[in-house]
Amino acid sequence: MDNEFRKLPSVDKVLSDKRVKLFQERYPHDSVLSVLRRLFEDTKVNISKGNPAPSFNELVESAVNQLNTLSTPGLRPVINATGVLLHTNLGRAPLSRETIEAMAIASRGYSNLEFDLESGNRGSRQVHIESLLSHLTGAESALVVNNNAGAVLLGLSALARRKEVIVSRGQAVEIGGGFRVPDVMRQSNAKLVEVGTTNCTYIKDYEQAINEHTVALLRVHSSNFKVVGFTSEVDIQEMTLLAAKHNLITLDDLGSGCFLDTAPFGLAPEPTVQNSISAGVDLVFFSGDKLVGGPQAGIIIGRKELVDKLKKHPLARTVRIDKVRLAGLAATLMHYLKGEAIQKIPVWRMMATPLAELEQRANLWAAALGNKGRVIDGESMVGGGSLPGGTLPTKLVAIGEPSKKKTPLIQQLAASLRQIETPVVGRISENMLLLDPRSVLPEEDKIVIKALKEQFKIIFREG
Ligand SMILES: *Cc1c(COP(=O)(O)O)cnc(C)c1O
Repeated sequence: MDNEFRKLPSVDKVLSDKRVKLFQERYPHDSVLSVLRRLFEDTKVNISKGNPAPSFNELVESAVNQLNTLSTPGLRPVINATGVLLHTNLGRAPLSRETIEAMAIASRGYSNLEFDLESGNRGSRQVHIESLLSHLTGAESALVVNNNAGAVLLGLSALARRKEVIVSRGQAVEIGGGFRVPDVMRQSNAKLVEVGTTNCTYIKDYEQAINEHTVALLRVHSSNFKVVGFTSEVDIQEMTLLAAKHNLITLDDLGSGCFLDTAPFGLAPEPTVQNSISAGVDLVFFSGDKLVGGPQAGIIIGRKELVDKLKKHPLARTVRIDKVRLAGLAATLMHYLKGEAIQKIPVWRMMATPLAELEQRANLWAAALGNKGRVIDGESMVGGGSLPGGTLPTKLVAIGEPSKKKTPLIQQLAASLRQIETPVVGRISENMLLLDPRSVLPEEDKIVIKALKEQFKIIFREG
């Protein structure tokens, strides 16, 4: 073992290798040195466990790998060719140009974020967006926080602590990423009372569960799943009428939060935010970065008296929205105010893209693959916890033949497309690689075409 230790070169010798020297030209000597020291420590631990010492070359390569990892930002742009428009793992909604500009301006300098320019006194960051949200939705008041999960937690904590909240069993759901309705209830110290069955809940189920401890009826959008067949759900209007009769409040976790009618795109109607307000819901909760098409945010709208309670709750500070996203959300909402949402907000523009245009783009992509790629009919999904089961007809570039067996070359191509400078992520179905232009911004087409050409050549060189 001692012998193995003695085979290790000095740190200085590794430092003076020209591959490591490249980093010393770009980064402070101390940070390069500390990476090497760490590497040597780990290596010594390995040797003491009985492993052989690495060669000089292996050591330098490990050092270069670690320096590369450290100096390459982990979070980088990806091209979403999955056809899922609101892909949570790929960052949900891409933003409009105006939104990005507003966010850049808010980051660059100071702002009147919490400063009343008229009086010179302290102001509220919420005033910048409250009237816009009220105007768009018809709600009395509004509050914007970090994300929708935070919004729901804040709402339940402020209004339902140690009280009972009635939820349909079919809606006591898990949205994914750790958001489970029963768990959020527990965190907020509210008691969940589940009523009805998985597939059917009637208004009498809610009514029978009401007692002196009940404070609210909660509806939760089922977001990412759909119960089909024999089902029954209670309409939100019926819920608000029942709540009013018993002096209870109605809470509505809409999840995605849609302002526009989805029917013109051939999609099932998604409940709109405006509809919840006009049905008499007391508080509505939804995300900023799903169908709204803006930056991450949790939006709460509804009765002023209740919104004020949320604003004053200690948790409000812990789920506060930052100035950059506040500016971005306001810019996105302006598109709705101006009636230009479908033209300007990327997710809506993607939904509205005509099939002929998608086919044209798919043909250009396929041409990059010679005779190995072809254009087929397929379906895009909105995703992001909206329109469960709803799809849009699309044109896909398919690579490979449908087969039951895994095709190594297709897996390899998909993997290599994920590992290039700007990764292109598609989906694999029946062992074909499918790429959907609908979820790709048109200005990204040239990157896709270049990537397809290059990776295809590398992978299928021999075939
Ligand atoms: C997406 C979703 C949430 C969580 O929203 P985030 O903005 O991701 O925190 C909560 N409830 C429902 C019904 C959802 O669909």
